[in-house]
Amino acid sequence: MAAFGQCYNRRVPVFESRVLDLVTHNPAQTRQFGVRLGQAIRAGDVICLSGELGAGKTTLASGIGEGWGAREVVNSPTFVFVNEYSRAAGGKLYHVDAYRLRDAADAESIALPELLNEVTEGKSVVLIEWPERVTDQLPPERLWIDLVWVEESARRIQVTANGARPEALLENLR
Ligand code: ADP
Ligand code: MG
Repeated sequence: MAAFGQCYNRRVPVFESRVLDLVTHNPAQTRQFGVRLGQAIRAGDVICLSGELGAGKTTLASGIGEGWGAREVVNSPTFVFVNEYSRAAGGKLYHVDAYRLRDAADAESIALPELLNEVTEGKSVVLIEWPERVTDQLPPERLWIDLVWVEESARRIQVTANGARPEALLENLR
């Protein structure tokens, strides 16, 4: 009964297991968070990076690329829509900027459906900036990251997991 009493008295914190919420205080911290995420991702993962201009999406993407092992530094794909990266360990990482995509026809013009198929078939991984532009085309299982400007050098990073695999990924980041 003593054991039961201990268990009964223990205060168990209640928190939302599908959400991770943190604040970084400089670009290096955001990048470092990205490195950790990049080390945990694998083919099939869809990572959405949402936030205003200057929120830190590309800074985070760059860290993710480093953690994943990209041969080249991941930088802004703004003028090319999609950048493709490789690594020594094999596999492909796509970095998409959906900022200028207005509709499904636009998305098709850059072969986004084919790219996403490749990812959901487990052949590659994709990072998407401005994912809200193409939400209805994204697979339901995704890790959604909101970046919010707090002050000059502080950003809030909110990670939401939709689905079993994204939840496992998020658990890895705690
Ligand atoms: P986005 O891709 O969302 O437009 P970038 O990553 O290109 O954003 O730019 C973010 C800008 O904010 C960079 O100039 C970066 O140096 C600056 N910055 C300041 N503090 C932070 C922080 N904590 N995390 C990320 N970027 C920061
Ligand atoms: Mg950017």
